[in-house]
Amino acid sequence: MKLTDISTIRALLGEEQTDFKKKFGQNFLVNEGVVKKIVAGSGASKDCGILEIGPGIGVMTVELADAAKKVVSLEIDPDMVAILGKTLEGKDNVRVICQDVLKADLPAIIAENFSDCAEVRVCANLPYYITTPIITMLLESELPLDSVTVMVQKEVADRLVAKAGSDEYGAISAFVAYYGKPYKIASVSAGSFIPAPKVDSSVVRIDIFKEKEVKPLDEKLFFEVVRAAFMQRRKTLVNAVVSALGGKISGLDKEKLTEMIVSLGFSPTVRGETLDVFQFAKVADAIYDIK
Ligand code: SAM
Repeated sequence: MKLTDISTIRALLGEEQTDFKKKFGQNFLVNEGVVKKIVAGSGASKDCGILEIGPGIGVMTVELADAAKKVVSLEIDPDMVAILGKTLEGKDNVRVICQDVLKADLPAIIAENFSDCAEVRVCANLPYYITTPIITMLLESELPLDSVTVMVQKEVADRLVAKAGSDEYGAISAFVAYYGKPYKIASVSAGSFIPAPKVDSSVVRIDIFKEKEVKPLDEKLFFEVVRAAFMQRRKTLVNAVVSALGGKISGLDKEKLTEMIVSLGFSPTVRGETLDVFQFAKVADAIYDIK
């Protein structure tokens, strides 16, 4: 069965008396080259467990099953799960769980299924409206993951991989850079899906640090400083941070923060969008010291 074949997809949906569901962001990949690129780019290997999110009819799942030791696929739509029963026949190393990824107990799923795998990697082609919450959740929850490979809208991909000082650099770029090393592994045109979405996509892989490169004294404060810096992009770092955190941290006023920023080697008018995560950590640590 060729799962990138449009008539095959329509027949499978027809057998279950279902159709592409917009509410679940069901745009299926019909470009075999892209599927192979994502699977190869995800790092799937024979000693690796793959947690797939949103398998749909299984176009990536079958390739992941061949490349990896084990695949666990979380799919929200019972109609897709019924189809997967047919398309994954004979793929004994795949387990499909009918569940909303945002409600799933991922630590338990990983512990239960991947204890004999040397690596655990996530591979996901999800509705665009939940990609950012899922990336955030996966990174923040500090699951034992080696990488997260995810299809996102092109503009979101540009933000995820952006370097300090670029137009696309924002709080999400710094957030991702804190947890791992992101890079684009594929550009995917809208025509690679059925139905075709209105936007082009990119696939981003984030290799998660085993040990973080940046170790702020207070992680919560570090992220507060990052968020403050980007909440008001046009403001200087000093003004943005004082207006967001001045009321919460006694002694943190404009004069004090300017003095600190200058002693760290920055211009007093530096903007947050030029700071990388190492520099944000320096600023956050200096603020921590006056707390
Ligand atoms: N991976 C398939 C492909 O590349 O053709 C399908 C991708 S389609 C963009 C997204 C899939 O994610 C759909 O099958 C949809 O039902 C599923 N999905 C949507 N929301 C989900 C959620 N919260 N948890 C798990 N799966 C979800």
